[in-house]
Amino acid sequence: MGEGHNFKQLRNAILALSQASDWEVARKEWSLVDISEADEPDICLCGHFPIIEICTIANRVTRHRAEIGNRCVKRFLGLRSDLIFAAIKRIRKDITKSLNADAVVFFNERGLLTPWEYNFLQDTLARRVLSPAQSATRENINRKVLSAVSRRGFQGPD
Ligand SMILES: [Zn+2]
Repeated sequence: MGEGHNFKQLRNAILALSQASDWEVARKEWSLVDISEADEPDICLCGHFPIIEICTIANRVTRHRAEIGNRCVKRFLGLRSDLIFAAIKRIRKDITKSLNADAVVFFNERGLLTPWEYNFLQDTLARRVLSPAQSATRENINRKVLSAVSRRGFQGPD
């Protein structure tokens, strides 16, 4: 453990939870359904420890779920969870910043945003200068997102 990401171990674990037996097909059965930042370091299916940026993936065919690290999600499944984590880092550093399109779509799909908030975020995505009321709204949404990704906070629908 500790020295990187064991692709073979990850692949075997994912294949065991997939319907397809061919890796290239099997990996397409999976989607990203949740992300969180662990309070306690976790272990990836590849054996890598520690992981903090946890991605929950679900298989659309078998309905199995698995938790793997952000790095493996991107590298081996080709899902861009890294872009969502990048947005989270940005707003944590500066609460006045905006999320990015990947994060807005993801959190909307997860049921975290109201339709109004979803529209608001789209309208203000690239805007650096906001009215005081708009700034307050953006910051409130950002805080909601940050608390949602902390390990115990996220209660999105399945
Ligand atoms: Zn991994």
